[in-house]
Amino acid sequence: MDNKPFKPTGKNSKRRKGLKNFGFIAILLLIGAVIYAGYNQPSTLKNVALSQVVQDANAGKYSKIVVSGTDLQITEKNQDKATISSQKDPNESLVKDDGLDQSKVVVEYKKASEAGSLWANAAVTIILPIILFGALFFFVLRGAQGQGNQAMSFGKSKARLYGNEKDKVTFKDIAGSDEAKQDLQEVVEFLKFPKKFESVGAKIPKGVLLVGPPGTGKTMLARAVAGEANTPFFSISGSEFVEMFVGVGASRVRDLFAKAKKNSPCIIFVDEIDAVGRRRGSGMGGGHDEREQTLNQILVEMDGFEQGTNVIVLAATNRSDVLDPALLRPGRFDRRVNIGLPDRKDREAILKIHFAKKPLAKNVDLDALAAKTAGSSGADLGNITNEAAILAARENRHEISQADVTSAFEKVAIGPERKSKIMSDKEKEMTAFHEAGHAVVGHVLPDSDPIHKVTIIPRGGTGGVTWSIPAEDKSYHSIIEFKDVLARMLGGRIAEEVIYGPERVTTGAGSDLPSAAALARDMVVNQGMGKKLRNQVFHVEEGMMIERMVHERDYSDETAKVIDDEVEALISEAATRAREVIKANLKSLKALKDALLEKETVEADEVLSILKETHMPKAAALY
Ligand code: ADP
Ligand code: ZN
Ligand code: MG
Repeated sequence: MDNKPFKPTGKNSKRRKGLKNFGFIAILLLIGAVIYAGYNQPSTLKNVALSQVVQDANAGKYSKIVVSGTDLQITEKNQDKATISSQKDPNESLVKDDGLDQSKVVVEYKKASEAGSLWANAAVTIILPIILFGALFFFVLRGAQGQGNQAMSFGKSKARLYGNEKDKVTFKDIAGSDEAKQDLQEVVEFLKFPKKFESVGAKIPKGVLLVGPPGTGKTMLARAVAGEANTPFFSISGSEFVEMFVGVGASRVRDLFAKAKKNSPCIIFVDEIDAVGRRRGSGMGGGHDEREQTLNQILVEMDGFEQGTNVIVLAATNRSDVLDPALLRPGRFDRRVNIGLPDRKDREAILKIHFAKKPLAKNVDLDALAAKTAGSSGADLGNITNEAAILAARENRHEISQADVTSAFEKVAIGPERKSKIMSDKEKEMTAFHEAGHAVVGHVLPDSDPIHKVTIIPRGGTGGVTWSIPAEDKSYHSIIEFKDVLARMLGGRIAEEVIYGPERVTTGAGSDLPSAAALARDMVVNQGMGKKLRNQVFHVEEGMMIERMVHERDYSDETAKVIDDEVEALISEAATRAREVIKANLKSLKALKDALLEKETVEADEVLSILKETHMPKAAALY
């Protein structure tokens, strides 16, 4: 596998709620079962017919008969507890009617009140379980009712109100994003000193849209605005508007805004607004009605703010391109704050913030880590720091070491090592050639990024990894650069082909080929980097149509064919160049393969020394 631009695999986990009730019921059930079992043990007394009892008593077999009401409990001569029970007719006397010889056995009569113990017994064996089960039903019903209530209150917004000191976030907690903070500082001022602005006739903005890739701190910034202005913060996610029932969204919006107005000055934060705010009227069918109604209601509410309402709506999205233009009109989300991926300096600052509360060894080089993590978001960096702490804790160390940080970074970037996966020697050799192929091509081609590490330890879903990291942050990429990247991506497959023959290539390139195809298509379709189709882009509208993705394109079938040809040309050019490089550097390829088989992982410096004698063949040169 050839690593793609740094793309962490970590996922945010969501908290689970509502298990508490279930646990309580389970405990109740257990207690009930234990008590019931305890009291409902089958009686150990043997029931014997009265005539037999009298006969045995007269024969002198018993020491004692206890009579309570109609019940008899009989103790045998050699026993010290009653072992036999029997019943007598309430109207008959044992001695007179049944012929018991009183000289042969002690007869004790218990009072009627003690017969009440029978009732006590009954209470324990029958009534107690009923009470317990009743309680159980009560709790179960209450739980069910809770859900019912939820269903019945569907029109209420599920907005959460933050505002207590404990989870307060301020701008200080957010590293970098200086422009965004500046823009939002203004919003803080509006909330804090509305009079100042009103007195000179300035209109306070109603909506501010935060736009940026996932994990760049949009949610955090919105909360920090509330924290700085010291106002309540109502947060709701766009997808919550459209849950469960049709027609819910609009009423939730109404409810949310009503609540907010009562608490003004305050902030309403609509996270992931693209879930409801997509361009209307695209696609067919009724699937959009719900969203449209919700969106309309948001617009109506925002238009309906009277002067001086002092509620500011912040919204966040990572897809501002799909938003309905109506949302962006003046008086709505007319202010826009862009938040980009952090640059190297900001990445270091973010790492510092996240490591601040963790015991970090003095020699850990955060600057180097920041350099390696181009393209990662604040959330990814947070994830790395957390993984590093977990690694240290697992080994009971009290300080996070450089090694922890390095392996945390690699784990987040390309998935955890899977050392337990067993590969045959043959497969190992194949993997080593494959990875060495990526490395040699990447190393030789001048515009490919430097090789950072090559390994044949399986990671994530792949057999091995060749990892190249740009020397510096890049915002732009040239055609030459992309062509070298394409060749490097194919380097693994081509090495297999050169070594084992064209029909013996394996599925080891399973993730290289799709990435190469995607990059080539992006070059042609979106970047105007085709040969014939240079400087032209082709719009493809992606939309949802009743559970199915549709791709609407605004070009002809003939153009589609040309695009396919262009993509094909890019891929086969890359394969040819990779082949030329590998054939010209077979000795180095084998040397790196041997090093990989021996050590499994080869780091940057060593890769450089092994590949010292490689050279660039003319046939692979672009310029
Ligand atoms: P978004 O809403 O843009 O997807 P979040 O605000 O949810 O991102 O950020 C996710 C996490 O990433 C935050 O909880 C924080 O730990 C971390 N993070 C993101 N950006 C920054 C930053 N600039 N400074 C510090 N931490 C950040
Ligand atoms: Zn590969
Ligand atoms: Mg968010």
